[in-house]
Amino acid sequence: MRSTSQRAHLRMDTTLICTDAVIVGAGPVGLFQVFELGLLGLSAHVIDSMPQIGGQCIELYPDKPIYDIPAVPVCTGRELIERLQVQIRPFAPQFHLDETVSSVQRMDTGRFEVVTSAGTRFDTRVVIVAGGLGAFSPRELEVPEAAALVGKSLHYKVGDPALFDGKDIVIAGGGDAALDWSMALVDRARSIVLVHRSSKFRAAPAHVARMLELCDEARMQFLEGDIVGLEAPQGELTSVRVRVRSGVVQRIETEQLLVLWGLHPALGPIAEWGLTLEQHQLAVDNATFQTSTPGIFAVGDVNSYPGKKKLILSGFHEAALCAFAAGEYLNPGKKVPLQYTTTSTALRRRLGVSADVEGESDRVVTPASPTTDHKSPGVAAPPYTPSRKSAPEPYPTPKTLERAS
Ligand SMILES: Cc1cc2nc3c(=O)[nH]c(=O)nc-3n(C[C@H](O)[C@H](O)[C@H](O)COP(=O)(O)OP(=O)(O)OC[C@H]3O[C@@H](n4cnc5c(N)ncnc54)[C@H](O)[C@@H]3O)c2cc1C
Repeated sequence: MRSTSQRAHLRMDTTLICTDAVIVGAGPVGLFQVFELGLLGLSAHVIDSMPQIGGQCIELYPDKPIYDIPAVPVCTGRELIERLQVQIRPFAPQFHLDETVSSVQRMDTGRFEVVTSAGTRFDTRVVIVAGGLGAFSPRELEVPEAAALVGKSLHYKVGDPALFDGKDIVIAGGGDAALDWSMALVDRARSIVLVHRSSKFRAAPAHVARMLELCDEARMQFLEGDIVGLEAPQGELTSVRVRVRSGVVQRIETEQLLVLWGLHPALGPIAEWGLTLEQHQLAVDNATFQTSTPGIFAVGDVNSYPGKKKLILSGFHEAALCAFAAGEYLNPGKKVPLQYTTTSTALRRRLGVSADVEGESDRVVTPASPTTDHKSPGVAAPPYTPSRKSAPEPYPTPKTLERAS
């Protein structure tokens, strides 16, 4: 049974959130960590610097097929994240998106204070870092004039599209974001010039075709070249200098510049939490996935140990072992019993499915002998024959994520 103190709860002071566990990162491994903690009765708050969950699966390959998830012959990055979202629903994790964890410090109480870029503070018993390759941040324009214009006339993402109404805009990039925003703003802006270093685009072919049509209709322009400088005499952007293929530098008069060159991950603040690093990753004990600081664990792409493979299925395995280790860290001297979801009443209750399993109770699994390696003790596993009763229900579409305030 989970004690009241083990349940995540919000204090009246909304700036301090007390919880069992904070998971840094909502990629596939951070999401599955919610599940494994939930089975042990531990609840979690999940923080991610991106505005949506999914980590690399959503940022880097949402529509590409993945073939090496056990028992799922093929699914896209997006489908995997949707399935995980459904799977963890019984444990009602609280998500804090668009917030980067900036600091983690042990307090006098032995618990940890976790602080995000948005000023949200957590008082947590354990921290599980599932930060992958690090927080994603936009690839920036590296010209001297850029820094002073960010957020005024130079943008790396579109916040409020109304900002571009009636304006002359240069959009830089050749991926989906650059082309999508070119099309979305074409009727709002006074003029749009798309600048890309090549005539080959990474965006969907249909979007490239539509963009070229808009150019033919003289509703926007495409210029092949590199941005080499900005002009902002009074602190206001007036023009962008582009070196075109011939080597000539052209000035394009503009009021707003939107640079959409994609995102790149960087370990960022995680490297500054005083944890032992091995080749820019967090060194862990691969029996517990604890880092060099007791109470701080690391799973998924962010960690390093002998034989580490950066695969989703490896991260899922790590999440299971990490949950057991976190449970034992929270209850020193007590072993967390291994139970099966098929047969444990307690686990089924936590999952919100029928708690009663005929002829079963909260059976603790003893180590399997070679002859019973896939069965819980004393329970004969019948051969699997799909029937109407046992066939899985159609896969539900997850509802949109609720942002924690
Ligand atoms: C193109 C491509 C194809 C791939 N195909 C496969 C495949 O077929 N099979 C396979 O097994 N693997 C594949 N991988 C690898 C797989 O995507 C990774 O192993 C997996 O995403 C790791 O998951 P994760 O949860 O550890 O990290 P990530 O998916 O990287 O998620 C980490 C999350 O942590 C967040 N974060 C980081 N630092 C902070 C911070 N300080 N504060 C808040 N949030 C933070 C990030 O924003 C990110 O969302 C592929 C990778 C790529 C790039």
